[in-house]
Amino acid sequence: MDEQSRQDLANWLEFYRELGIEEFYRRNPDAQPAARPTPPPTVPLAAARNDAPAGTQAGPPPPRTATQHAVPAPRPVAPAASPPRVEGSAPLVPAAPIRPPVASFSLFETPAPKPAGPETLEQIRADLGDCQRCKLAGGRKTIVFGEGNPHAELVFVGEGPGADEDEQGLPFVGRAGQLLNRMIQAIGMKRAEVYICNIVKCRPPGNRTPEKDEIETCSPFLFRQLETIQPRLICCLGAPAVKTILGIKEGITRIHGQFYDFANSKALATVHPAYVLRNPREEKILREDFEKIREFLKGK
Ligand code: URA
Repeated sequence: MDEQSRQDLANWLEFYRELGIEEFYRRNPDAQPAARPTPPPTVPLAAARNDAPAGTQAGPPPPRTATQHAVPAPRPVAPAASPPRVEGSAPLVPAAPIRPPVASFSLFETPAPKPAGPETLEQIRADLGDCQRCKLAGGRKTIVFGEGNPHAELVFVGEGPGADEDEQGLPFVGRAGQLLNRMIQAIGMKRAEVYICNIVKCRPPGNRTPEKDEIETCSPFLFRQLETIQPRLICCLGAPAVKTILGIKEGITRIHGQFYDFANSKALATVHPAYVLRNPREEKILREDFEKIREFLKGK
């Protein structure tokens, strides 16, 4: 078989495999010719479905619009004009008729439109489900989705749940959380007024920094939360949050206290409360940055 025929044959086998047809027979060359199967559609299969898997996007930075997440590029299915012939033989035909795998699914139907309007936090939580999308799922006790006012003007984004958060299913409830609470109170706000979440929703083993693949898998949910809440200000707590949200890799001690654009919101970077617990002299940075938050929110 020449190279082109071999390639065409491979494309056809792949096409039928996508349809769940794996077994083939070779027709007797002397038999009456059968009707040829319909050529494969030129519509990419992935584009005909409406179930984009979470976390398949490339890395999030640079600062993105909130509508850019979780839309993987459709995987092209190589079309062929007709089944290739094996030299000196009849064309290969599938052993079973081609049928859509489920009655309600057609390659040629337009998928039902998604409901208009922004999604709610409850819908995002429901979509997350009992998430097994990354390796953190195996070590967690609880998914820590986020907590607070769904209409908050101020959202805090930390790194990932620690042991206390994993136990209780709530963000920032351990020692770092107590320091965060004090800072929130220091600017005249209550914890219940703000929204608090993390770049990953499951505890990394030993409280290590979340890894790239874990962040890529989980952060689309964070971006959806931010898009739903539409806060005026996002406060990134620590370098991993800054990198995930703003795409900035520079040291936090250099860029803290500055305001950046993020979709329709502003974002400000500051040091992580856990860092301040380890380096108490740096509390000054946190206090100064929280004062900037207070000033920002005062201005309408
Ligand atoms: N540290 C974080 O980054 N997030 C939490 O929820 C708790 C501690």
